[in-house]
Amino acid sequence: MVKLFAIIGFAVLSISASPLVFSAPATSGAATPKSEIKVIYDAFGKQSAYKKDWGYAAVVEIGGKRILFDTGDNGETFKHNAKVANADLSRIDFVVLSHRHSDHMAGLNKVLEANPNVKIYAPKEGFGIYGSSLPSSFYRKDAELPSEYRYYDGSPPDVMKFGTAWEKANFQTIDQTTEIAPGIWAIAQVSDAPGTKELKELSLAVDTPNGLVILVGCSHPGIENIVQAASKINPKIHLVAGGFHLVTAPDETINNVAIALRDKWRVEYIAPGHCTGEPTFNALRKAFGDHYVYAGLGTVIKLESNGFIEGVSTKAALFQNDDLTLYRQLAAESHDALHNHFAQVEHDH
Ligand SMILES: [Zn+2]
Ligand SMILES: [Zn+2]
Repeated sequence: MVKLFAIIGFAVLSISASPLVFSAPATSGAATPKSEIKVIYDAFGKQSAYKKDWGYAAVVEIGGKRILFDTGDNGETFKHNAKVANADLSRIDFVVLSHRHSDHMAGLNKVLEANPNVKIYAPKEGFGIYGSSLPSSFYRKDAELPSEYRYYDGSPPDVMKFGTAWEKANFQTIDQTTEIAPGIWAIAQVSDAPGTKELKELSLAVDTPNGLVILVGCSHPGIENIVQAASKINPKIHLVAGGFHLVTAPDETINNVAIALRDKWRVEYIAPGHCTGEPTFNALRKAFGDHYVYAGLGTVIKLESNGFIEGVSTKAALFQNDDLTLYRQLAAESHDALHNHFAQVEHDH
């Protein structure tokens, strides 16, 4: 739980030139590692050179690591946005793919073009697109049959390997919560919601001196379940960012989740995006007040050493009133994806 303190703690202390907070030892000329989350794929954001689209991707720089979390919904758009963000895909330390929905992984080919050997953490799923394996003992044998009736002529390999859609990619599939780098965790959860039952999803949790920083893709297993699982690493939750999957949820559910995140899980800052949904943005704004961190496409969430979190929108802001309109339009255009994502809610109506 405290393993990252040595790494991030020092990095963060070094960043802080602020006389109000720390008087860190002089590190003259030393590069100051960044500690930030940059949203590079989403369907809302302030007017900028980024292209809006339904989906999610973020570049996380923390603890001296540069992590790509998800890869958006369209390869060309992802590549364009990575360029606008000055995110050099060849210098990513590793990728975390939250889950197998296309709005989170369509840019993976562009990552592999730039960085063919990069390590990619992805959820482990039987016969999943990231590749999988099973002991051959899983299937029943019948030795009475002639060999040409039998799988592998009756002599299967001990482990049966199943392919991936990206044969040369360096996947490491994960099926339980794992510390993938010092203080950096992949939280593994399974969705139980109708429409996405048994869907596996990874969330990213980074243990910092100010508490956990959690980044979620779509939260199909439920945002509270993810926060609960993460709280076993460190019960102090500093920030939760990403998609909370409440885009079609009724007000009562939304309000309950907003209050639970604030009062039960004591989440200090909240930076929702993607499939969180407009009414949930609103409810969280009300619940969190000035601890709501705006995090649209192009926002850089700065994680300060003193625990303060700041959302900065890059390439800012000439006119912003088309923001909401486009989010709605993109949501409507993604109807098929949405239908799959939110099948359970549509059934309820
Ligand atoms: Zn999804
Ligand atoms: Zn999604």
